[in-house]
Amino acid sequence: MSILIRGGTVIGSTGPYDADVLVDGETIAAIFAPGKGPEGPEIIDATGKYVIPGAIDAHTHMQMPFGGTQASDTFDTGTRAAAIGGTTTIIDFAIQRYGEVVQDGLAAWHAKTAGECHIDYGFHMILGGVDDDALKAMDQLVTSEGITSFKLFMAYPGVFYSDDGQILRAMQKARENGAMIMMHAENGPAIDVLVKQALERGETSPLYHGLTRPQELEAEATSRAIWLAAVAADCPLYIVHLSASKALDQVKAARDLGRNVFAETCPQYLYLTLEDQLGAPGFEGAKWVCSTPLRSGKESHRADLWQGLRTNDLSVVSTDHCPFCMKDQKEMGIGDFSKIPNGIGSVEHRVDLLYQGVVDKKLSLARWVETIATTPARMFGMYPKKGVIAPGSDADIVLYDPNGRTRISVETHHMNMDYSAWEGWEIDGRVDTVMSRGEVISSGGEYTGRRGRGKYVPRALSEYLL
Ligand SMILES: [Zn+2]
Repeated sequence: MSILIRGGTVIGSTGPYDADVLVDGETIAAIFAPGKGPEGPEIIDATGKYVIPGAIDAHTHMQMPFGGTQASDTFDTGTRAAAIGGTTTIIDFAIQRYGEVVQDGLAAWHAKTAGECHIDYGFHMILGGVDDDALKAMDQLVTSEGITSFKLFMAYPGVFYSDDGQILRAMQKARENGAMIMMHAENGPAIDVLVKQALERGETSPLYHGLTRPQELEAEATSRAIWLAAVAADCPLYIVHLSASKALDQVKAARDLGRNVFAETCPQYLYLTLEDQLGAPGFEGAKWVCSTPLRSGKESHRADLWQGLRTNDLSVVSTDHCPFCMKDQKEMGIGDFSKIPNGIGSVEHRVDLLYQGVVDKKLSLARWVETIATTPARMFGMYPKKGVIAPGSDADIVLYDPNGRTRISVETHHMNMDYSAWEGWEIDGRVDTVMSRGEVISSGGEYTGRRGRGKYVPRALSEYLL
């Protein structure tokens, strides 16, 4: 069946242009000058709307086990919420823990996702224990499983933590096979000292989660990761959830040297602050406990991050969607902030929150689309199947209404969370229609997709490597 999306303005990474888009089956068949499309197909009127590639969230953690509980969105609820918000592909994280076989971890995540996802999905692999077997497995995942990115942690000693030797070995392997090393760059052992000292002083409220993870410990780890990658012959490195000015400075310096160093940030770091959210009265701040933490609004982090997005020192915006409910989950940390499960849920809102950056003149339309769709596709080996409106690409398409309005609330969101980190936020724009591989799955706020229709996307190597 073919569908003609008529009268809209297509946004690509070179900017906006008026065009009609013909979808045939699951892919985009052709792009026509306005009014030049064929008669006959079903028509979707996109007059006054932006036609953008379905957004790609390259960093989510659906139903992830963490600190004795698990993230509250399942692959079912989380991908449905993502779809309604204009995201048509996620890359989630399969996990190998210390002592486990990497392929077993991957198989477990394939089992969790089978028949559950509403949109297409891929996996990065978290390596919680780098050893000889894990290094061999990296080759096998790259060549046979469509997994071309591996996440390591400089934080969380005793859980996911890798020491510098393990990191170097994984980086050397990645340099060999072309994979990307994704890094959670915070100095975990130093943070643990600060956490222990704070708790001993009776500093137990959520605010101290932020104060015990100062930006210096993010900058130091970011710098260390960058130099370890240099020792590994410029292994491709992608810093996840970069939150702080001093960490951004490290990435900038590496990129100025022409290094294979990339970074993402997340909406929470672009908008929210340590004082206003994490420092909210009583235990409220637990809603915004995530790592890296929200940074001080008295410093220049938010302005610097927006600028980094404009200049491509930050290449991608993903959510690090890792939701926990207040009841029974975040509440585990009443009286001890270190027991609050780390994570914020935003998978439904990223397209809108970044569009607000366009309205506020912090990003161009082209850059909006690049940071939420095109660059993630290219960065993680899914382009041009995903991330672009072009003939032959999957018909993952969002019609975005710049005259619409979105009000975010726990009352109306679709994520499985008992609060919203963005309660009461208003966006000057609205996701109107969402198409995934040629099927309209959401339109005018009504969801028509179904569980299990999402497919696994095996990925190629990043396109950005030197
Ligand atoms: Zn994460």
